[in-house]
Formats: sequence, C-alpha cells, structure tokens
Amino acid sequence: MLRVAVLGAGVNGVASALKILEHYQDVRQQKIEVTILSDEFTPHTTGDGSAGLWGPFLLGNTAPSKVHGWSKGMHDFLQQIWLSEDAGEAGVCLLPCVRLSTDEKASVGDFWRDIVYGATELTAQQLADYNRNRVNKFTCGLHFVTYTSEPVKLLPYLMKRFVKRGGLILKRRIQDLEQFVAESSYDVVVNCTGLGSQQLLSDEQCYAVRGQVTRVKANWVYAALLDESDDGNYIIPNTESVVLGGTHQERDYNTQICPQDKRFIITGCRSLLPGLEHSQHLFDWVGLRPGRTQLCLQAERRGAKLLIHNYGHGGSGVTLSWGCAAEVLELLLAAQLKAKL
Ligand SMILES: Cc1cc2nc3c(=O)[nH]c(=O)nc-3n(C[C@H](O)[C@H](O)[C@H](O)COP(=O)(O)OP(=O)(O)OC[C@H]3O[C@@H](n4cnc5c(N)ncnc54)[C@H](O)[C@@H]3O)c2cc1C
Repeated sequence: MLRVAVLGAGVNGVASALKILEHYQDVRQQKIEVTILSDEFTPHTTGDGSAGLWGPFLLGNTAPSKVHGWSKGMHDFLQQIWLSEDAGEAGVCLLPCVRLSTDEKASVGDFWRDIVYGATELTAQQLADYNRNRVNKFTCGLHFVTYTSEPVKLLPYLMKRFVKRGGLILKRRIQDLEQFVAESSYDVVVNCTGLGSQQLLSDEQCYAVRGQVTRVKANWVYAALLDESDDGNYIIPNTESVVLGGTHQERDYNTQICPQDKRFIITGCRSLLPGLEHSQHLFDWVGLRPGRTQLCLQAERRGAKLLIHNYGHGGSGVTLSWGCAAEVLELLLAAQLKAKL
C-alpha cells in the first residue's frame, strides 16, 4: 500500500492530501494511506485570517498561464461546493466584486477575467462615480462575480472530508526534511509548509509578505471593493464579518499589530465606503504570506522515494489550492507510472 505524508495543514496541505486520497479511493479504487503532519492546524494557519477571496495576487514571476490553470481549478471546485449541500458549512459564498486601479497602464484581471462570472469593464460614468471626492483618480475597473471561501470555515470542512475518508492527522514539527524523507516509512512526501520551506530547504527565494487586516461588523456590506493600486485598500465581506485591508510588506517578519498600518487601513477603507465609519471594530490580524520569486510545484526523486514540493503561494494560496493539489496528484501519478512505487 502506498504511504503518503503531506507536510503542512494550511489550505495547500489539506487540499493536496484530500485530492490524493479521494482520487485513489474513487478513481483508482486503490488502497492508500495519507497522513497530514504539521506543527499548526486551523485556526492557526496563514489562511485562517484571510478573507479567502478568489483572485490571483502577489505571485512573483510565476507564469500567468500556470496561475490561470491552477486558479481555474479552484474556481471550478468552489462552483461544485456552491451548488452542493455543503456550501454553508464550507463557507463558500458567491460575491459581486469591483476591482479598481489608479495605474495609467493597468488593466484589471487581464489573464483571468474569463474564469470569473460576467466580467465587465466599468464605464466612464461608473469610474467618475467612484472618483467623486478622490484626488488619486481610478483609471480603470472591472465588475464581476466570484467566490469567497473563508479558510476559517473551508479548512475544518476539508479536514472533516479528509478524516471521513480515513485520512490521518499528526501534530509534528519537521526539523530536517531530507532526514525525514530518508528515514520515515513514507513512499511519498508532499511538502506544503509555506514559509516554513524557507528554513527547511534553506530556500533563499522564499520571503514573507506581511499582511495586516482589520475585521469589522458591517452586515450591510454585500460586495467586495478592491483598489488594486500598490497603496490601495480593500473591503471583502465574509459570513460573520467584513475584512478591511490591507498591507503587503515584502520581507517584513513583524507579526505584531502596527498602529500606523491600522490607521492606513481604516482611513483608506472609509474613504472607499464612508458607511464604514459606524461599523463595530472586531479585531486586527497579521499574517505572513508565503512569498517566493516563483511558486514551487515540482517533484524530485530521493532514491526509491518521491518528494513533491507545493509552496510559495504568496497572496493567492486559497485561490490556487485545489488547482495546485490537482497538479500534485498528476506528478504523483506520473512518477508512479514511470517507476513502480
Ligand atoms: C492578510 C492576508 C490576506 C489574504 N487574503 C487572501 C485571499 O483573500 N485569497 C487568497 O487566495 N489568499 C489570501 N491570502 C494568502 C493565503 O492566506 C496564503 O497564500 C495561504 O494561506 C498559504 O497557504 P499554505 O498552505 O501554502 O501555507 P500556510 O497556511 O502558511 O501553511 C503552512 C503549514 O505548514 C506548517 N509548517 C510549516 N513549517 C513546518 C515544519 N517545519 N514542520 C511541520 N509543519 C510545518 C504550518 O504549521 C502550517 O500548517 C492572504 C494572506 C494574508 C496574510
């Protein structure tokens, strides 16, 4: 029986583990043992503080054609959940969005607008409406509908699906990846440790992209509003709260709340949506996005064993998770075909 270890219980680890387990059981009808090993689990992973809005963001030089495929994989998966009885439990919501930019040369969502529903450029009149009282004018904007899948709900749902299928879970910190691959009894190791890979692999291409957000109670907000400019703010409703953002500070490892960032977030979001003035402040949160010059998704042989890397998802780990998990599975199946595992 094939024994697979998935390292990391963030959205990418859990998605990879579940994708492999379900495929082997349902399609190949083959026995498999899949274990998730991680030092932290939901609600203490990077995704747990994020709004989980679908949308490619902060992915370094990762090829847009790759990002298109992976993010479409997740969009299709979210559509399946949305149309099933699981939508509420999984925290999957269909949401109208407006993305705006002040960049003269920018055009919003060039390579992914065919994935979301009903993408339409804003008209000059609509832009003028958003530009009222603004000094730094928006030059373009896109209206469309897509999904949020807030990880604080999505992760417990995926973990439940995984355990129901017989998936195993172990709380463990891996100190030395090479030693773990060589000495453990697993045939396949899938590395989904996010920023943890920086240390585990001495990978100098990894870096933190610090993100601070504020959550408020504003049940009347039913649409996302995002300023794509480098110093732009965003407003994304989740089921119980609304996320106001946000920062993206490269190579900043500070996990403390910064009062200056909080002022920037609250002032900026209120200027986008003045009604937020009277919303109830719930809490502030900081997370370190697992940035990398390029997302790393590749397989390597280690003697008779297989090591698959799936890390460096930057600001889009939720958006890419199911698509990347499908590619992890493809790499595993290809390797199994090549050499009997
Ligand atoms: C403020 C903010 C807002 C965001 N908003 C969005 C959004 O709207 N949409 C979107 O798609 N993305 C968003 N993101 C990005 C997204 O949250 C991340 O890309 C994603 O969570 C990364 O998931 P991951 O599974 O790769 O890594 P992580 O969630 O970081 O998980 C890594 C896992 O590996 C484990 N681990 C690490 N090292 C070791 C070790 N040595 N031994 C054992 N276990 C280890 C950790 O405990 C953890 O379980 C946002 C991020 C931030 C900070």
